Order: sequence, then C-alpha cells, then structure tokens
Amino acid sequence: MRADPYDLVVVGHGAAGLAAALAAAESAHGARIAVLERAPHAESGGGSRWSPSNMRMKSVSELAPDFEQDMVRACGERTDRAYFRRLAAEAPSTLAWLEGHGVKFHTPGYYLSAGPPRIQAVGGGAAILEAMERAAKATGVEFHYECPATRLLTGAGGAVEGGEAISAGTARTFATHAVVLASGGFEGNAEMLREQFGPGGASLRPISPGSVYNRGEGIRMALDAGAQRAGDWNGMHAEPVDARSRQSAPVVLVYPYGIVVDRDGKRFFDEGAGLVHETWEHVARAIHFSAPGRVAWAILDARMFDISGYERAIRSELPPLRADSIATLAALAGISPEGIERSVAEYNASCTGDPARFDATRADALSAAPGLVPPKSNWARAIERPPFLAYPLVGAIAYTFGGIATNESAEVLGAAGPIPGLYAAGEITGHFHGTAPNAVAMMRALVFGRIAGAGSMKRQTR
Ligand SMILES: Cc1cc2nc3c(=O)[nH]c(=O)nc-3n(C[C@H](O)[C@H](O)[C@H](O)COP(=O)(O)OP(=O)(O)OC[C@H]3O[C@@H](n4cnc5c(N)ncnc54)[C@H](O)[C@@H]3O)c2cc1C
Repeated sequence: MRADPYDLVVVGHGAAGLAAALAAAESAHGARIAVLERAPHAESGGGSRWSPSNMRMKSVSELAPDFEQDMVRACGERTDRAYFRRLAAEAPSTLAWLEGHGVKFHTPGYYLSAGPPRIQAVGGGAAILEAMERAAKATGVEFHYECPATRLLTGAGGAVEGGEAISAGTARTFATHAVVLASGGFEGNAEMLREQFGPGGASLRPISPGSVYNRGEGIRMALDAGAQRAGDWNGMHAEPVDARSRQSAPVVLVYPYGIVVDRDGKRFFDEGAGLVHETWEHVARAIHFSAPGRVAWAILDARMFDISGYERAIRSELPPLRADSIATLAALAGISPEGIERSVAEYNASCTGDPARFDATRADALSAAPGLVPPKSNWARAIERPPFLAYPLVGAIAYTFGGIATNESAEVLGAAGPIPGLYAAGEITGHFHGTAPNAVAMMRALVFGRIAGAGSMKRQTR
C-alpha cells in the first residue's frame, strides 16, 4: 500500500459522487481526494448525466408540501423516516450550494398530468455535473476515468483503509482514510437483474446510455466489507418508452388517454389507474414481464392532438403509426386485427360517461362502465375519431432500488453499526420500496453525497 494515503476516495462521477468530492474538498482545504470513474470522461455521469433532474420542490428554498408523508405513501411502512427527514432538512441548503456554483433552477413544463410541484436545473443533470466537476477540479480533486473500482480494503475493526481499481488494465491500490461509494445501482448488470427479476430481467432495456455503467460492483464491494442490504431488491424504476427510438429516455406517457394492447390486441391493465408518475413503473413492468414478445401498443385517436401540451408527454423523436381504420393500424403495427377490433369495440361500448368531463391534467374520474375487464378508472373516452394512432412500447429500466444500508449521516451500516470510514450516497443506497417517490432520486443523490463528503472529512479531524 502507498505511504501517502488519500483523505478520501469517491467511487462514481454521478451527482452523488461529485457532490461528495466537492463537499469534502470545500470542508478540508488541501485534502487529497480522488474520484474513480468507470466510464471515459465523455460518457461519465451514469444516470445523472441523462436525467432531466426534476426535484420535488416548490422553489429552491421550499420543499413540496407533504414531502415526508408522500415518501411514506410511496415507500409504504418500510420507509426510513429519519433518512427522508434529513433529506427534507438539507435539500434547500444543498440546492443553494449548487446555485452558488452556478447552477440555475426553473419550473419545468412537466409531462401533462398534475402532481407535486417540481423544479429543475436548467440544462438538467448534465449541467449539475458540469458545475460540480469544474468546482472540484479547481480545488485540486483528482479524477481517474476508465478506472472501475473493484474492492474495498479494510483493517482493524473493519475500518476502510483503501480501495482497489483497474487502471490502464492493471490493478491499482488507493490507500485512503475514507471511501464514499456512489456508483449507482445494478441496472447495467444483466446477471444481477436476472437474479432479482427473473429471466426477463436480463433483457430490460436501459433507459439511458449512462445506465449501462452501473453494474452493482459498489454494492458487492460494500457487502463484502460487511454492509447490510437494504431497500426493495424487487423494486426498480422503469418507464414505457417508444420501442423504435434509439435516443435516451424516449418516454411515451399519453397511454392513460387511450388503451394499451398486446400483440393479440388484448388490453391487460387499467391504463387510467392514476397519474402517470403513479402508474409508469407498473405499466413498464407489465409490458416487459407480462406481454407476449415484451411489447405493447398505446392506441389513441385524433383527439390526442386536441390535448393541450400533449407533446410534453411524448419524448420520442418518432411520430406514431397512424391509419384511418383500426384494422389498417393493426396491420401497420403487427397486432392481431380481430383482437384489437374486439378490444376497441368493448372499450368504446363501456365509455358511457360524458366526454366533456375529460381532463388530461388530473384524475378526472371519467371511468369506463363497470364490467369492462380490465377496468379503466379515468380518462375513458371512446377511440373513434380517425386518424387512429399507435405507439409501440417497451419497458425501460432507469434504476434499481436494492442497495446497501446507510443512516441519515450517509454512513454505511454493518451488523454492529456504521463501518468506520465507509460512506455511500445516491442510487447505491437502498431506501426506496414499492414505487420510486417521484422527483426525489436526484435530490437524495446530491443531498446525501454532500453529507457523505463533508462527514468523511469531519471524521478525520475528530
Ligand atoms: C433518463 C433518466 C431520467 C431521470 N429523471 C429523474 C428526475 O427527473 N428526477 C429525479 O429525481 N431522478 C431522476 N432520475 C434518477 C436520478 O437521475 C438518479 O437516481 C441519480 O442521478 C443517481 O445518481 P448517482 O450519483 O447515485 O448515480 P449515477 O448518476 O448513475 O452515477 C454513478 C456513476 O458511477 C460510475 N460507476 C459505476 N460503477 C463504477 C465502478 N465500479 N467504479 C467506478 N465508477 C463506477 C458510473 O459510470 C456513473 O458515472 C432519472 C434517471 C434517468 C436515467
């Protein structure tokens, strides 16, 4: 091991890792800090680089109302309240800190349907990374790209003393007083996805180019060093995307306003069960794990174009398939014509509510008549005005929920409490259960990254 240990080694160059490196550098001038990143510089940043980074805040200084309660609702009784309380307490100062580094925030035009208030960094996650990387480089933080971390080294009492990584094809040891693991989840690891989600897990489409770099080594390294598992290992954030598109996150979130059918033309879930951010995970999983061929089609009619701002809910660069009859649409899409004609006829017959009540922006309770299977709870308006439209959909994975246990100080927890010198933040930590709380993942990466970085330096001066 080298004689001149680092004060801190950060694994991962996403939002959590850069927040940790920068906060550490600012809280201990002259500290020797290294960031290890698997990807080349241009592709570094994991999910953060591709994330629009919506944040559940009313403004930079004010959280969305009912924040903590909403976390409990999203994650169920398994929520770690102390974690979310600290997140709520530190979010405004963390965003002010980013503003101090030149990040600007605005209120985004969010998809279509209502939900909690959200703000967004102008330029999204890429702008946040750029600002933090610039500031960290100015303080002398070292960056090692194409340098995947592989192992933690521990000493007496399990304390972290170093990390191993592959640099220029050879193993290199980084002796250090502390490590912050910020290497994301395991959405880029087909084998781990198969283990957790069954055979279909391995073929889940990554939602962004950055997702493929997160292969779960950080989680494995921590578990090998005695960390506890936490979070919902059967949980993931996934969204329905245009099957034809090759761009990042080409989500198609107009499905609540029509129906979704499989290749046999059958509906297989309630498309209007809730607002899109309440249903997108279920929809993406249902398509990937239940539909034959792991593909489905959102079917709408010309009235989609009358929905004000409908374009905001479609991030695909490709137009929908369109035809003047359902049969021709079926032929274009490769859906069973008899099946889809039957489904549309049944659905249309059950759209007995007053279509004037249709309101795309909220759960409008315009439900299909009882008896329709599966039901349609909101936005049930007949599909009858040509041209008829179809978007082919597949489920794409954004990130996994299963990870390692951390406390509200971002310390990694072993069986007997915090593992000395080991911190973690962001996706690698397991705090989400059931469904991802909307517009919280980026905030928590930044907040707990900053806490981890500053905390790791404080520990060394105690
Ligand atoms: C398309 C998309 C849209 C999203 N939209 C939102 C949104 O609007 N709001 C929101 O709150 N959240 C959103 N999220 C989620 C959120 O952006 C992420 O949860 C968050 O950015 C994760 O940050 P992180 O730092 O933990 O991980 P990442 O940003 O994924 O960074 C992990 C880094 O670690 C590196 N790495 C991995 N393994 C190793 C290794 N062994 N050694 C060294 N480096 C390694 C990776 O290359 C990567 O650079 C979105 C995500 C995606 C992909």
